[in-house]
Amino acid sequence: MRLKGIKINGFKSFADKISLNFSNGITAIVGPNGSGKSNISDAVRWVLGEQSAKMLRGSKMEDVIFSGTQKRNPMGFAEVTLILDNTDRKFQIDFDEIEVTRKVYVSGESQYMINKSVCRLKDIHEIFMDTGLGRDGYSMVGQGKIEEILSSKSDDRRQIFEEAAGISKYRYRKEDAQRKLVRTNENLDRVQDIITELEDRVEPLKIQSEKAKKYLAYKEELKTFEVNDAIRIIESANEVVGGLDEKLGIVTKQLEHAKQAANNAEHAQEEFYQAAREREEITQAASQKIRELTEQISIKKGEIDILKNTISGNHTMVERISRELLEVS
Ligand code: ATP
Repeated sequence: MRLKGIKINGFKSFADKISLNFSNGITAIVGPNGSGKSNISDAVRWVLGEQSAKMLRGSKMEDVIFSGTQKRNPMGFAEVTLILDNTDRKFQIDFDEIEVTRKVYVSGESQYMINKSVCRLKDIHEIFMDTGLGRDGYSMVGQGKIEEILSSKSDDRRQIFEEAAGISKYRYRKEDAQRKLVRTNENLDRVQDIITELEDRVEPLKIQSEKAKKYLAYKEELKTFEVNDAIRIIESANEVVGGLDEKLGIVTKQLEHAKQAANNAEHAQEEFYQAAREREEITQAASQKIRELTEQISIKKGEIDILKNTISGNHTMVERISRELLEVS
């Protein structure tokens, strides 16, 4: 495992994107006070997942973003990528080179990536465990850090030695297993509590169960009675319905007869009306005939009167002519 390089963009004093390549051997970065040497080691610490702004010599995490100068606007994000050689497969990842990236925006939103794939902070911690580069790693020793290590408590020093000895991973797993064991024991306690509580409830539940069984038996009996009762009611109702059906048959027949009689009467009435209409027509024709005959009679009477007058005139003429003839002879 070897640190091959670092890319910094917008982190602290590095407003421009820079790329530092570390070749084999020792690399030293020199520069005047305040030129940004420690900002590089801060960038390494930060990309490895440092969560304390104080450890990065700031007061809050957003302080790592380039805050601008009189001549230059502030940046909206900071991004650092660490490039590590993995040809010896020190990291449990099947790539010859590993790129670990961390990015943070002024909004506070942040992102971790391993070989450009988004990952969790936990994944970063896990791949660096026992490499000396991890959270409790000894690879980065800041200003005054040696003194701090020597004067710190033996427990804190032990962490550094454990990391160097490569047993942190096992300690981490042990702690994780112990935490799980504690949780399991707590769950067991809760299960035991529940069992105890349930045991207290067994006797009353048994009594309730007996009552419930009796209740179910009575309920079944009641159901049989109710069914039988219902069958009886249905049977008598069927009888009533049978009688009513019979009566309905008779009434239906009577109704049919009545309808037939009504039809017949209607038919006869129609025939009667038809005959009346015909008689009326005959009467009207007879009256017309009478009126015509009366008219003819009166005409004939007139003609008779005229003829009578003519005859009487003729008689008178005959008498006169007879008298004249007598007189002449
Ligand atoms: P020394 O040798 O005195 O420790 P150094 O070379 O290590 O100095 P650093 O402490 O790394 O320098 O850098 C400090 C510089 O970084 C300061 O000039 C500071 O203004 C600048 N700086 C720190 N944070 C930011 C930021 N967020 N935005 C812009 N500049 C920043």
